[in-house]
Amino acid sequence: MTDPVYAASESRYEQMPYRRCGRSGVLLPALSLGLWHNFGSFKPFQEIKAMAHYAFDHGICHFDLANNYGPTYGTAEENFGHLMAASLKPYRDELFISTKAGWDMWPGPYGNWGSRKYLMASLDQSLKRMNLDYVDVFYSHRYDPATPLEETMQALVDIVRQGKALYAGISRYPTPKAAEAFRYLAERDVPCLLYQDRYNIIDRAPAEAGQLDLGWENGTGFISFSPLQQGLLTNRYLNGIPADSRMARNTSLKQSVLTETVLESLRGLDAIAQRRGQSLAGMALSWLLRDERMTSVIIGASSVAQIEDNLKALDFLSFSEEELQEIERFSVRIRESGI
Ligand code: NDP
Repeated sequence: MTDPVYAASESRYEQMPYRRCGRSGVLLPALSLGLWHNFGSFKPFQEIKAMAHYAFDHGICHFDLANNYGPTYGTAEENFGHLMAASLKPYRDELFISTKAGWDMWPGPYGNWGSRKYLMASLDQSLKRMNLDYVDVFYSHRYDPATPLEETMQALVDIVRQGKALYAGISRYPTPKAAEAFRYLAERDVPCLLYQDRYNIIDRAPAEAGQLDLGWENGTGFISFSPLQQGLLTNRYLNGIPADSRMARNTSLKQSVLTETVLESLRGLDAIAQRRGQSLAGMALSWLLRDERMTSVIIGASSVAQIEDNLKALDFLSFSEEELQEIERFSVRIRESGI
């Protein structure tokens, strides 16, 4: 039953800038919300609801999911389905919802990588879990070197033609393969809407590998994931490892990355952020969004307060040359330490 107490804020579109996604009709909020870690079976539903409502009330209308988000696998989509049923269904046409398949999801040869068999079955499962008739974008979650690229791309084309996704996207493709994928999709009139990869103050791989330029020239939007390097680029670890933090779980964000050199550099970055009047997380997001090639950045968050802090990044998009150079020095130091 629809939650009678939730009515989205009337002012939800007043503060958020919306950026055009490549050469498409789609506008995306500068900040999007990702459901990788904090929306699964271990998080109380009330907290999930509070975060999603707060985000939407502040103009974050793009929610990024994947089949295996949780933990445990599938439960972020299930909770999103509960959210649709409880409160968001009336706003379906105001929401831009993505999901993906490409990483391990179920046992056996058909629950991983890039076959047509896996992608088609996985999207059907995702739609059921999320209580949706269609997603706005469906991604091939990673490049599969063993499956012909044509097979994976044709599955995306057919999924769009079936109306199960409105647009196609790819994530984590080597640049030449991304170029091939863009070409294949465009030739079938299903242009690639979005390219998704990790990009932040520390990890510059997509820029260095030419993906940012490739997408820009192709008319494909670029959307950055883990913009805070999973929480490293925040004040979370400046004074130890909090028990409720992602690093405390030591899974996707290992405690071993927090060396003395890294910590010193994070403190240096934090000092720049404080001088600018923002949090370190805020500065990391502002740094990304100052680049016009960045269609959107997908934040993760474990509380409403974090989303609130991250939204403030939108007020600080300009940097002086000195600030950029100083950030660069710390960033190089962190990269040289082996992260
Ligand atoms: P971030 O780099 O934004 O890290 C999120 C974590 O940072 C939070 O869980 C929280 O840590 C901490 N944090 C966030 N805001 C603040 C703040 N203001 N102050 C202090 N700490 C803060 O993103 P994620 O790594 O979560 O990735 C974001 C999304 O990107 C995912 O949900 C997913 O949608 C997408 N993604 C896509 C991938 C792909 O292969 N295509 C791969 C990975 C992610 P804590 O939980 O410890 O509080």
